[in-house]
Amino acid sequence: MSEPLSGKITLRIPAAFRSQLGGAGQILVDATNVAQALAALAESAPELGQRILGDDGSLLPTVTLYLGTDDIRYGQGLLTPLRAGAVVDIVCLASDGASSRERRIARLRTVLAEYSPIEARRRQTAGAVLIDVREMDEVARGSPTGAIRLNRGFLELRIEAIVADYEQPIMTLCSNGIASLFAADSLQRMGYRQVASVAGGFAGWKAEGLPYEFPRLMNGEERRGSKRQQQDLERYGEHLAIPEIGAAGQEKLLASKVLLIGLGGLGCPAALYLAAAGVGTLGIVDEGRVARRNLQREILHTDRRTGQMKVDSARASLSALNPGIQINSYAEPLSAANVAALVADYDLVIDCSSAFAASHLLNESCIRHGIPNVHGAVDKFAGQLTVFWPKYAGRPGPCYRCLYPDTPPSGPETGVMGFVPGLIGLLEAVEAIKLLLGLGDPLVGRLLRYDALDGRFVERAVYRDPACRCCGTAAATSSKGTLSASATPTDG
Ligand SMILES: [Zn+2]
Repeated sequence: MSEPLSGKITLRIPAAFRSQLGGAGQILVDATNVAQALAALAESAPELGQRILGDDGSLLPTVTLYLGTDDIRYGQGLLTPLRAGAVVDIVCLASDGASSRERRIARLRTVLAEYSPIEARRRQTAGAVLIDVREMDEVARGSPTGAIRLNRGFLELRIEAIVADYEQPIMTLCSNGIASLFAADSLQRMGYRQVASVAGGFAGWKAEGLPYEFPRLMNGEERRGSKRQQQDLERYGEHLAIPEIGAAGQEKLLASKVLLIGLGGLGCPAALYLAAAGVGTLGIVDEGRVARRNLQREILHTDRRTGQMKVDSARASLSALNPGIQINSYAEPLSAANVAALVADYDLVIDCSSAFAASHLLNESCIRHGIPNVHGAVDKFAGQLTVFWPKYAGRPGPCYRCLYPDTPPSGPETGVMGFVPGLIGLLEAVEAIKLLLGLGDPLVGRLLRYDALDGRFVERAVYRDPACRCCGTAAATSSKGTLSASATPTDG
């Protein structure tokens, strides 16, 4: 009754695909349905098959099949039965990859907002986040002022850490406004609801005369686009991705000068993290030599450098970690004779000296210069740190002498586990970086104590002594320049 369904089927090939079929405009195959016909086609011309069917055997979205005037996609699809003598027209919507991309771009433009650079700048000023999704070498040649630089490869991985609010307006920017469309599309798929792309990209931004900067990390023209600059962008990439730091913060760190006293158990980890973070100038003070008995905590040094000056050993390790920073070494003990000159050149002091006399000298000099003094101390299984900064605008705190007027705190003579100064030294570096960047709440007037055996951090308040002979009222009314290690106690 019904005609046999098996037989020769004619597949008409679109002009763009004919070269893969020896120029033939059609091919005859045996099939009872469309899927079989296409399978037979793919068998005789595999490359052609790949342009019609996906890996999973489904019809590619760029291809349409017509049986007569019927688009088979709206009927039974690939299972559409074929009678002998049937003719199937293969119609390709996109003749090649490039135009397929163009179609996708056109589609994105219909579903995503695009702002002109001027509109984007207006919105950025009003609080929208602008993300420069270009590669680092492009960013190094200029990027919109205040933009977050997060290249395409890291966008999906990191965006949630940077923009936690899915309602936050976000704009993406690339070199010419195309890649940013794809980036915006990805963000929209992730759930961000107010995403837009900047039309014309950075080229358009610049053409409009909108503000841009050279995110680094290179202050001089001569460094722009240099190898060094690119290395810096790589090195500090993680910082640049943090909005609270970004290029401006990293520039600040690179311009900062920190004086670190003592290259022992506290100073070693502190110096390592400061150098790694890109604190631009690191002054290191220590008159000692590397000794094997100290290597259980002095991790900047090595067994082979036993006997070397600690400042030389430290310089070797720190320069190896970050060749881009300046290291000033002072192989001399801190004394009343040199402390003023040393401290004067720096923005902040980290006291890792574990020496009562040196700490007092530093304390007085820091008060005179109005700079913060990050102080750490350790003992066996416990350690503590605080920031002495009587001039702190937010909440003036005590100085070292307020805490230890006359009696020295117990020293590390009893021995110390290496990990304790390791941790406290690291926390000193953390406080220093916070202070340099103006981030968070510094440990001014707060003493943070860690007990390794208890596995507990305890914080206690430390108060200014109004009668302190260094930072108290009496000190303030005394004549300038009288604060020194030999200053005699006053009645306050
Ligand atoms: Zn004081």
